[in-house]
Amino acid sequence: MTQDIIQQLGEVQTPLYYYDLPLLRETLTVAKNAADRYGYHIHYAIKANNNPRILREVSAQGFGADCVSGLEIERSIAEGFAPSDIVFAGVGKTDREILIGLENQIMSFNVESVQELHVIGDLAKEHELKGRIALRINPNVDAKTHHYITTGLDENKFGIMMHELTNCLDIINANAYLELVGLHFHVGSQITDLNVFKRLCLKVNEWNAWFYERGYDVPVLNLGGGLGINYTEPDEEAIVNFNNFFYLFHEFLDVRAHQQIHFELGRSIVANCGTLVSRVLYIKEGLKKNFAILDAGMTELMRPALYQAYHKVELIGAKTIEESEKNEIKHYDVVGPICESSDCFGKDVILPVLKRGDLIAIRSTGAYGEVMSSRYNLRQELQYFFKD
Ligand SMILES: *Cc1c(COP(=O)(O)O)cnc(C)c1O
Repeated sequence: MTQDIIQQLGEVQTPLYYYDLPLLRETLTVAKNAADRYGYHIHYAIKANNNPRILREVSAQGFGADCVSGLEIERSIAEGFAPSDIVFAGVGKTDREILIGLENQIMSFNVESVQELHVIGDLAKEHELKGRIALRINPNVDAKTHHYITTGLDENKFGIMMHELTNCLDIINANAYLELVGLHFHVGSQITDLNVFKRLCLKVNEWNAWFYERGYDVPVLNLGGGLGINYTEPDEEAIVNFNNFFYLFHEFLDVRAHQQIHFELGRSIVANCGTLVSRVLYIKEGLKKNFAILDAGMTELMRPALYQAYHKVELIGAKTIEESEKNEIKHYDVVGPICESSDCFGKDVILPVLKRGDLIAIRSTGAYGEVMSSRYNLRQELQYFFKD
C-alpha cells in the first residue's frame, strides 16, 4: 500500500492523515458478517476516530454508536447513527450531556456511579423523559494490556462497585422515569489475548445470574470493546479475526433466549485504515545514535508518548528491509519536532538510509490518532487524504 500512497499524494503538505476507505468498508463488512452470525450488535466507539467522513462510512453500514460525551452523541446523530442505537458511557457525564442523551432518547446510559444514577433519575423526572439505564459493572478482570488502557480492575475509576448494586436497583425501582435495560462491561483496550474475554464471559455469566435470581431479566448484555489489532504486521493482518472473537462469546456466554448481546468496538474497526504520513526534515548523525527528525510529532500522534505504543514506521516507496543490502539500511531514532523527550515514534528503527524530504508512513494510526492531536507548540492544522 505504500507505493499506492506515494502515487496518490504527490507533492502534498505533511503531516497528513491518510485514510483508506475501501479497507475501512471491508473491515466493517467482515465485522458485521461475523457479528450477524450470532445476532450480535456492534456499536462503533466514536472516541477512536470521530472524523465525519469515517463516521458516515460506519453509520451507512448499520452500526450503532458508543459515545463518551454529549458532543459525540450530537455528532454521531448528525453523521447518520440512529439515537436508538447510541449508548453513552463515561464516569463524568455533565448535566448538559445527560440531557442531550435524554432528549434524544438514546438506547442506554452506561451508568458508572450511584450518584450519577441519582442525577440521571432527577433530570429524567424533571423533564418527563425516560432514562434507559445499563449498569456498568466492574468485573475485576485483568486485561493484561498497558496499565493506562486497563479499565476493568477494582483499582480503576470505571464502573459501579459490587456492594452498591442493590442500592442502584432500589433507585431505579423508586423512579418511574428510569428503566433498567442492561448490564455493561468493558475491561480495557488493545487486548490480544482472547483468554481475557473468556474470563470476562465467566464473570458476566455470574452477574447475569445474580440479577436474574433477584427478578431482573435484563434484556441487554453489553460486553464493551477492547479487541486488539496487530500493530507489528499491519499488512499481514489488515483485518482482525472478528470470527474468532465473536465465536468465543458464543461459546462461553450463557444467554437467555431473548437477551441481546452488544459490543463496543473502536480500535479494531478503524486502526488499520489510517496512516500518518510525514516528511523527514533532518537527519542528525549522533555519536551513539542517528536521529530522523520528522515534521509529525506527538501533537499529531500521541500514543507512543502517552503509553509507549508501537507503530510500524516505513519509508514510503522503498524496498522492504528484507530486500535491502546491509549498506542500504541504518538504525534511527525516529523523533518529532516537539520540545519533549517523549516525542519519539520509535527507537533503533531499522530503515533504508534516509534523507531530507523522504516520506515516512506511521502505520495503523486510524484509532486514537487524529482524535488525540493537539495544538501544543501551536502546530499547523492537520491535513487529510481519503482514498476512496
Ligand atoms: C474506549 C471504549 C471502548 C472502545 O475500546 P476499543 O479498545 O477501541 O475497542 C468501548 N467501550 C468503552 C466504554 C470505552 O471506553
